[in-house]
Formats: sequence, structure tokens, C-alpha cells
Amino acid sequence: MIKNISVNQLEEALHEAYETCRTIEGGANADYIPYLANIDSDLFGISICLGDGTVLSRGNTSYEFGIESVSKVHTAILALRQYGADEILDKIGADATGLPFNSIFALLLERDHPSTPLVNAGAITACSMIKPKGDSDGKWKAIVDNITELCGSEPHLIDELYRSETATNYNNHSIAWLLKNYDRIYDDPEISLDLYTRQCSLGVTAEQLAITAATIAHDGYNPVTDKQVFDAELAPKVVSMIATVGFYEHTGDWLYTAGIPAKTGVGGGIMGIMPNVFGIAAFAPPLDEAGNSVKAQAAIKFIMNKLGINIFGSTRVETVGSD
Ligand code: GLN
Repeated sequence: MIKNISVNQLEEALHEAYETCRTIEGGANADYIPYLANIDSDLFGISICLGDGTVLSRGNTSYEFGIESVSKVHTAILALRQYGADEILDKIGADATGLPFNSIFALLLERDHPSTPLVNAGAITACSMIKPKGDSDGKWKAIVDNITELCGSEPHLIDELYRSETATNYNNHSIAWLLKNYDRIYDDPEISLDLYTRQCSLGVTAEQLAITAATIAHDGYNPVTDKQVFDAELAPKVVSMIATVGFYEHTGDWLYTAGIPAKTGVGGGIMGIMPNVFGIAAFAPPLDEAGNSVKAQAAIKFIMNKLGINIFGSTRVETVGSD
């Protein structure tokens, strides 16, 4: 079946999703990172970015929240840009772990392989690979420049979040040094972990994440800045990784119910990619027990079901946003 989706339909779905999901109760702010525990739990926003650069938004979509694990996607893209698809598969992998994002057990089970850049172990390895090697400032600049290109505007470091996370990331220290033990980290472990922690502490808006998602959905072309950010051939690799492990141990349930590959973060953000259709992002701080935003999940599911589209279905969206 071929489908055409108008701006009106999108606006309506967005409006209904916002009104329906804003009152959903349940979940709690991440409490293992002190800064996140204190964010206003009622914040909620949803943005959709189309292939022509149109951004549709409802709620607190200009509020800068901690990007956290959604940044793993951005830096995976940078590693892919610097090394190519084959080397990333070889050095990190593209598999699901079926375990929580910060699992040490996953690393032990895989017998030395970090599995995917979209869990903590693989994300720390990805940071270790970013060039220029050994140059913390140069690597940080490369990471931020890449995120800026994907978001269409610069993200700002939330200093308090960075300090809060640095003071409490003992588990991630263990992962970084275990990677060293297995020869799966390609730069100094402390520098690599610090870069990972810093990228997680960047503040982004739902609009910036929707623009990133739209860039991935349109083969690396950012429709807002009109720039080809990464090679088109890398886009399906990125989407496959997100589809495989974007919700960690609940990825299958998510794909089954929402029908869109998406990546979550404990800051409350979720970014979904519908290839050739749109990028979507939602944000609300309270999380379920796996660390995924309760309201953001509900909102994205609502919109997908309302529009009747699903990455696994035979329905093809021919035009989107042209009334
Ligand atoms: N910085 C967080 C951590 O490493 C990110 C976790 C997440 O968003 N799932 O624990």
C-alpha cells in the first residue's frame, strides 16, 4: 500500500499524542546521576523533522536536557565516518547484548567484544577510536563538531551534569579498564571514559534530536542545514544498530509495539528514525526500570500507530508533509 501523509495529519497526531501522554503517570527520574534526579519531572516535548527541513513541535522542545546515551549514536556515526563500516564491525561489533546498557556481564559473556557502540562498553571504545589519537582536546572537538553537524546547531555542555556524572561513574571506570584488559580500547582508558562522560553531559533539545534523526532517515543529509553530513551508505548501518539495541534489553518489545528504530537516554530523550519519512524525538524525565522515558515512549508509539506506519510493514510512505 502507498500512503501520503499531510502536514495536517502530522500536526493532528502530534497534538493528540501530546495531550494524551502528558498526563501519563509512572516512572522516576534517573537517580544514580544526582543532577538528573533533580530535573522537573513534568517537562515533556515532542518534535518531528521532515525531509524538507520542516520541524513540527509540541511542549518543551527547546528545553536543553542531558543527551546521555542518545549521544552514542552520534559518536558511532563519527567513528563510522573516520573508519568505515567494516572496521567498526570488527573492532566494536553491531550486536544486541540483551542486557542493561551498563552491563559488565555483557562484556564478560562476549569474551572481550564490546558488542555495539550503542551500549556503554562499545561507546567508550568508540570514544577511544576517535581521531586525533592521544589528543583529548582534538578528540572532544571532533565529537562536538560531529554532533553539531547532525543536530544542525551546537549543543552546550551542562557543567553540573558533567561534574555529577564524573563523581559517580564507578561502574563505567570498571568497563573502561576491563576493555583495556581485553585490548579493546584504542586510546588511554581515562581519556576515553572522560570523553564518553562529557558527551553524555551535553545539553540538547528535542528539536535538535529530531533533526539528527531526520538526517539519519535521509541518508546522512541534514535537511535543516542542507548539508550531507555523512556518506549515504552508512545510514542503513546506523539504523540497523539502533534497531538492534536502541532500547537495550527491551528492544524487541519496543520494535514490536512501536515499529520504529529508536535510541533512548537516561536524560529522558528518545530519538526515532523512520527512513525516508521523518525523524522524531520526544523528551520527558521519568524513566521505566530499564532507563527509558515512559512518556516519550508512549508519545512516539501513539504517533506511529495513529499514522499507521511501521518500518516492518508493506505500506510505503510516498509523500510526507506536502498538503
Ligand atoms: N551516562 C550514562 C551512563 O553511562 C548514560 C546511560 C544511558 O543514557 N542509558 O550511565
